[in-house]
Amino acid sequence: MTMLADDPTAATVLAAMRCFPVPPDGRSPGLDGLRAARAGQGIAVGRDGVMLILRRPWLALDVRVSPPIGAYLPYGSIGEPKADLRCGFIPREYLLSALDHFRAALPNEAAAFIVWNEKTAEFAVNFPVIETATPSRLVYRTPTLPPDWHMVCDIHSHGRGPAYFSATDDADDAHAMKIALVFGCLDQLDRPVMASRLCAGGMFLPLPRSPFSGGSDAA
Ligand SMILES: [Zn+2]
Repeated sequence: MTMLADDPTAATVLAAMRCFPVPPDGRSPGLDGLRAARAGQGIAVGRDGVMLILRRPWLALDVRVSPPIGAYLPYGSIGEPKADLRCGFIPREYLLSALDHFRAALPNEAAAFIVWNEKTAEFAVNFPVIETATPSRLVYRTPTLPPDWHMVCDIHSHGRGPAYFSATDDADDAHAMKIALVFGCLDQLDRPVMASRLCAGGMFLPLPRSPFSGGSDAA
């Protein structure tokens, strides 16, 4: 096999994010293996652009990370983007339980995590240990999860304030792979406001649809 780099450190870095040219028919053993992997990441280069392919036990994400390539390439297409929840949709009761917790914590901010077990396929909601909570600031310990459990959804409240991702939230989420939700206006009982994003590959992506089963998402 041809090494892509002579230096062992450089070779390790490249092996952690492999690059696959797309054959004209769109498939190769390398690409198929990456797409089917339990966990992994790589990029596919096609005539129509570059696709980042990320796999986690709970998520299969294909996201375009470049515009179409202007030069002629004798390659196939990278295909359609996707963001599939391998864990399935999250039962809405977990969201409702988090919202009850946030309202009980008013006027302070609060947090909840929805986690998923890849062996048993069960979800659970986890309330972190809070170190400081005020109406505008929250410091908590991110849970260390037991084996087989994965953080799927990180939810926090902005209490009575508006729902948006603050600069602190951006810094906290920069290296994470999770769905992040913020709820605000929680004192307005039937109208909490939600902001959402998918954190993956160092990017903040819009959620293509609600991750919760049933209902529409004014929560
Ligand atoms: Zn926040």
